[in-house]
Amino acid sequence: MKRTIELLIVPVVGNCAVRTSEAICLDRRRRPTMGSFRPLCRCSSRVFASTSIHAIGAVLLFPRSFSLPLSPTRKLTVAAAVSTSALSMINPSSSYSQSSTEPETMMAPSTPRWKPTCLYYTQGQCTMMNEPMHLEKFNHDLSPELQVKANEVNNLQSQQLDYLLVLDLEGKVEILEFPVVMIDAKTMNYVDFFHRFVRPVEMSENRINEYIEGKYGKLGVNRVWHDTAIPFTNVLEQFEDWIIHHRLWKKEAGRSLCRAAFVTCGNWDLKTKVPEQCKVSHIKIPPYFMEWINLKDIYLNFYRRKAMGMRSMMNQLGIPLMGSHHLGIDDTKNIAKVVQRMLADGAVLQITARRNPKSLDHVEFLFKDRIR
Ligand SMILES: [Zn+2]
Repeated sequence: MKRTIELLIVPVVGNCAVRTSEAICLDRRRRPTMGSFRPLCRCSSRVFASTSIHAIGAVLLFPRSFSLPLSPTRKLTVAAAVSTSALSMINPSSSYSQSSTEPETMMAPSTPRWKPTCLYYTQGQCTMMNEPMHLEKFNHDLSPELQVKANEVNNLQSQQLDYLLVLDLEGKVEILEFPVVMIDAKTMNYVDFFHRFVRPVEMSENRINEYIEGKYGKLGVNRVWHDTAIPFTNVLEQFEDWIIHHRLWKKEAGRSLCRAAFVTCGNWDLKTKVPEQCKVSHIKIPPYFMEWINLKDIYLNFYRRKAMGMRSMMNQLGIPLMGSHHLGIDDTKNIAKVVQRMLADGAVLQITARRNPKSLDHVEFLFKDRIR
C-alpha cells in the first residue's frame, strides 16, 4: 500500500520501538485546514514496531512530500540525514539540552516559520546574537507571533485600560518563572515582554535540582533555568524598573498600576501564589498586584460559555497552541493570543478581582457570573 506522508517526525532515542507511539504522521489526504496543526493519525507502535530505526538522534523529514510503502512488515530505511537543529525548529526540547523526553509541543502555522524563543534572550542574557546559526535556530523577536492583521480590529470596542499585562506564573511550591506579555488594549498590538526565571529561597539545593529537573527538564530548558534564575525579590526590582519604563507605575507607597492591569487565566496567580511567595520571600504584597483581570470570567460573560483553562479557550476559539505547554513564557504568549482574539471579537477587558488593601486576605470578585 502506498501512502503519501507529508510530515513524519520520528523521535529516535535508543530503542525507537518504545517511542514510536509518539511519532506523528500527517496524511496528505486528510490535510488539516489552514491554521491547524493536528496529529491526524498517531502512528501506533503496531505500525512502527517492526521498523528498523535504531539511530541516535532524531529524524525529521520535512517539508517535501515523499512516498513510502507502509505495511506492518516494512523495513523503513531513512536515507535523509537531518540535523537535530532541524528538529529544534519544532521541538523546544532540543533547544537547550539533550533531554530525551518529548514535550507537548505543536507548531503554529505562520510565516516566517515558528522557532523556539531563545530563553537567554528573554532574560536579557543571550550572548550569541551575532551568530547566524543561533539566530537561525532560535527566535529573538516575539512580535511576529503576536502580530495583528488589519481586518481583526474592525470590532474593537472602546477599552477603559490602555495596556494589558498578561501574566502566567509557573511553580507550585515556590514561583519558578515570571513571564509577562504587554498588549496595547486599544490596538491589540504586542508592545513588549518581561521574563525571568525565579530561584526559590526556602528550598535546599538538592530539592531545587529535583524540582527543576522534574519540571523544566521535561521541556529541555533546565540548563537555562539554572544559568539565569534569580530570587523573587530581585525579579520584582527588575519588573518595577520595567513598568516604570513603560510609565505604567510610579514607585510610591500604595500605587496601583496606571492605565494597565494584569490579565491571568484564573485567580490563582495573584490571589494565591503571589501572596504565598511574598510571605516566603519576607516582603509585603506590592501594590501593583492588588487587582487583576481573570480572563476566564471575561470569557464566560462575553461568549456565555465556560472555559476551564487556557487550552479549552484556545480549542473553542480555534487558536493553535504555540511552543511548550507549561513553559511560562509560551503559555503567556498563548494567553496573549486569546486576549487579542477576544478584543478582536469585541470583548471589553476590565478588572474582575480586587484585594482589599486594609484586609489583605479578602478579595472581592466584581462579576456576578464567574468561574468558581
Ligand atoms: Zn539567543
